[in-house]
Amino acid sequence: MVELYFTEEHNMLRDMVKEFAQNEVAPLAKEIDENGTFPQESINKMAELGLMGIPWPEEFGGTGMDFLAQVIAIEELGKVCPSTAATMMAHTSLGTAPIFMFGTDEQKQQYLPKLASGEMLGAFGLTEPNAGSDAGATQTRAVLKGDEFVVNGQKVFCTNAGYAGVIIFTSVLVEDGEEKGVSAFLVDAGTDGLSMDPPEKKMGWKASDTRTVYFQDMRIPKTNVLGNPEKGFKQFLKTLTGGRITIGALSIGTAQGAYESALQYSQEREAFGKTINSFQGVSFKLADMATQIEAARHLVYHAAWKKDRNLPVIKEAAMAKLFASETAMKVSTEAIQVLGGYGYIKEYDVERFFRDAKVLEIGEGTSEVQRIIISREILKSLKAV
Ligand SMILES: Cc1cc2nc3c(=O)[nH]c(=O)nc-3n(C[C@H](O)[C@H](O)[C@H](O)COP(=O)(O)OP(=O)(O)OC[C@H]3O[C@@H](n4cnc5c(N)ncnc54)[C@H](O)[C@@H]3O)c2cc1C
Repeated sequence: MVELYFTEEHNMLRDMVKEFAQNEVAPLAKEIDENGTFPQESINKMAELGLMGIPWPEEFGGTGMDFLAQVIAIEELGKVCPSTAATMMAHTSLGTAPIFMFGTDEQKQQYLPKLASGEMLGAFGLTEPNAGSDAGATQTRAVLKGDEFVVNGQKVFCTNAGYAGVIIFTSVLVEDGEEKGVSAFLVDAGTDGLSMDPPEKKMGWKASDTRTVYFQDMRIPKTNVLGNPEKGFKQFLKTLTGGRITIGALSIGTAQGAYESALQYSQEREAFGKTINSFQGVSFKLADMATQIEAARHLVYHAAWKKDRNLPVIKEAAMAKLFASETAMKVSTEAIQVLGGYGYIKEYDVERFFRDAKVLEIGEGTSEVQRIIISREILKSLKAV
């Protein structure tokens, strides 16, 4: 059934990314996780293959494929190295998409070719120490002074920040002493007043770069406001809707990676004179894992399919993200159980998938926030009847 979503072009892309992921990314996954090494080597190769700009038109240096193609690539990379997939995902869905969706012609010309080709990485700073789920509580202030904004504030957990050529960030726009609401802005790496901490030490996604970013009397040109300043809040909600579908894609990749490791182990490990997959207690776990992943796939592909057709997708994106991320957590937990004690040991990949799965229930809106969005959408549709 899921095959129905895909064209020949999608299938070719999947084959290509799968081969690349297995040959080039998988061999590095354990080491970059252990050492917390940013996956620059793989990112450079992915740039050569066009994987850093899949959903953008060719005129901007992208491959001209659709959002579903982006989902496929993230899923395949996620099966072997969620850190590498997260780096590409944040670059595309958060660090590039807002410029494509809301940027002026000048901003698109200036940034998109470099971002789409992978010559430059993008990052997106929304979360602050006191504004996470409650993203509207942004305390960063961009005060318009003549032709410039003077920005003061801070962003936390900013993925790719240390390697990004451009960071998109949200801030309250202040003009003539009046707060105009939350807008999005662009800042180039190296701008005076922009600084950051060393990378966070994390439970998972250890090779992905996550940092606190500071803006101290940072001056950016007035033209660096992204899109319509009065619709900044709506813009970032739209950005997150797409981002949630790609988190769903990374979730099915992460779950599938853990499941395949457990399946293979269950065929080789013997106990009581039999391979362990001959015990119903183990094979039922595998059956549940496979079923949950398949269900998550349907939600994620369907949401991507709707997004590609510009159909309303807020509820579907939240459902896909919620179900797929919780599936990744459940499946990777069960995968450890299938491997028994070896599942707890770093020699096997399942403990890495388990650690990489947890953040999927947190980033781009926690599971609780997804449930708020879904229930709000359901209630809205009831009122509309
Ligand atoms: C590895 C990593 C990478 C990230 N990358 C980025 C990035 O690139 N850019 C970016 O901007 N952010 C990023 N984030 C931040 C992430 O999106 C936030 O951590 C997340 O949105 C939650 O915000 P918070 O951490 O402030 O938690 P809080 O909002 O403080 O939530 C704490 C708990 O309270 C619950 N809660 C809060 N409000 C409600 C409510 N109304 N109803 C029920 N429960 C509620 C939450 O679900 C959660 O369980 C990243 C985070 C991590 C860990």
